Amino acid sequence: MLRLPKFELENPTTVAEAVALLARHGDDAQVIAGGTDLVPNMKHELFTPDVVVSLAGIAELRGVCVRDDGTVCIGAMTTLDDVAASEPVRARALAVTQAAALIAGPQLRRMGTLGGNVMLDTRCQWYNQTHFWRQALGFCLKKDGTLCHVVEGGGKCVAAASNDTAPALMTVGAVLVFHGPDGPREVPIDDLWHPDGIYNKKVRGELLTEVRIPPRADDGTRLLGAYGKLRERGSIDFPLFGVAVRLDVDANDTIQDADLCSVALQARPVRLKKMAELLRGVTLGSDAFQDAVATCAAQAAKQCRPLANVPGDADYRHAMVPVYVRRTLLAAAAGSGPVHHI
Ligand SMILES: Cc1cc2nc3c(=O)[nH]c(=O)nc-3n(C[C@H](O)[C@H](O)[C@H](O)COP(=O)(O)OP(=O)(O)OC[C@H]3O[C@@H](n4cnc5c(N)ncnc54)[C@H](O)[C@@H]3O)c2cc1C
Ligand code: SF4
Repeated sequence: MLRLPKFELENPTTVAEAVALLARHGDDAQVIAGGTDLVPNMKHELFTPDVVVSLAGIAELRGVCVRDDGTVCIGAMTTLDDVAASEPVRARALAVTQAAALIAGPQLRRMGTLGGNVMLDTRCQWYNQTHFWRQALGFCLKKDGTLCHVVEGGGKCVAAASNDTAPALMTVGAVLVFHGPDGPREVPIDDLWHPDGIYNKKVRGELLTEVRIPPRADDGTRLLGAYGKLRERGSIDFPLFGVAVRLDVDANDTIQDADLCSVALQARPVRLKKMAELLRGVTLGSDAFQDAVATCAAQAAKQCRPLANVPGDADYRHAMVPVYVRRTLLAAAAGSGPVHHI
């Protein structure tokens, strides 16, 4: 049986109190939200904080609201289940609700939060293991060792960003609000992640309090979106590859803009290049749309090169990239829901 290391638990009831605790304890402290990732990681001795600051008692961090200007604000402690069921989030960011609904399994979605998902540590099959297992392997660059087992001779950790909501939030230009000792600040979601998987987050010591989805442009387009997720077991697993699609479509069903972002490849979620160029001006259901989808899928396969960082054969994951990009684009166009296998 794996035991939790000893730690002190702090239970603040306001954001200000939590920020003060993080400032007081510095690197000795770590935030816990739903604990669905942090607790296993502590049992594996990947993190051994002396002080754990729980956000469970901070009521102001829970729930979804819509501001007068149309911004959708999601509190960091809103559960994945509540995000998946939120009508305002669905209307503004369909791929986000679909991604949240496909994370882990039902119990974990009831405990796990959007904030914890955004701030999820990068994952690797040589790292997310017990201390005993990692010691037998000689540890690795990310913790306690000097070698990377994925890229031989590599000086950078390529553990994979594995948070399903991340690419979906990127497609809608989400903005993150962090609170630290100097007050609140906004970070565009694209700027959050570091290309080196060792570097947990750029915002250590700060608390993620809110995820904001900005209002849509008043240009008469409507939003279509979908999330596609390749995983071993349809009931619970982390992504082996994930892709989020946003399409902005006018009254004639012609695509005016598009964005596709992927996850589970590198230490940060990745925006697929050239997708908007290929899709703009194309009308849904036309032959040109079928051609553009095929070209996007082929382009994605060129850009996405899965590594042996997460479980699953890297060649198989690569072969699935165009399949999932194609199916997810078609699902977005048809409004037919997330793409995953059971
Ligand atoms: C079996 C299993 C399957 C899983 N499958 C998936 C999956 O398919 N997809 C997926 O994306 N995830 C998956 N997860 C991971 C996890 O359940 C989710 O990512 C969940 O959203 C994490 O949220 P949490 O509230 O539990 O975070 P926690 O575990 O509490 O925290 C995660 C990290 O974020 C930090 N943190 C949390 N909240 C904040 C905040 N507000 N400000 C600053 N830092 C913060 C913590 O310090 C910690 O480092 C799985 C986990 C398990 C155990
Ligand atoms: S990518 Fe390399 S350094 Fe990073 S966790 Fe995996 S084995 Fe360790």
